[in-house]
Amino acid sequence: MDATFKRYVDDPTTAETELHARSGQRVKVLGLTDPANRDEEVGAMWHVEFEDGYRAPAFEDELSHVPQNPSYYLTDDTLEPHCLEHTEPIDSRYGCRYCTKED
Ligand SMILES: [Zn+2]
Repeated sequence: MDATFKRYVDDPTTAETELHARSGQRVKVLGLTDPANRDEEVGAMWHVEFEDGYRAPAFEDELSHVPQNPSYYLTDDTLEPHCLEHTEPIDSRYGCRYCTKED
């Protein structure tokens, strides 16, 4: 999914310079960050990847759009998908073991 990143902090000296320099660029939204990163005022943070491969977390209001109702988040260090409801790793083949429904 593609979005446009726009740094809302106007002062480059207080913002991360790598991100500030990339303001206005297109990004791929990789997924939600750990919900613990959520900010009361600006909402969730998302892992994004710029066209040059640079990856960073971005605030939700810095992105033109984000996925609605995500079911998982990506860990900060390894970008491993985890179930939002159960905070359990999501197996690429079997999914979250607690979300698996019994028939
Ligand atoms: Zn689950």
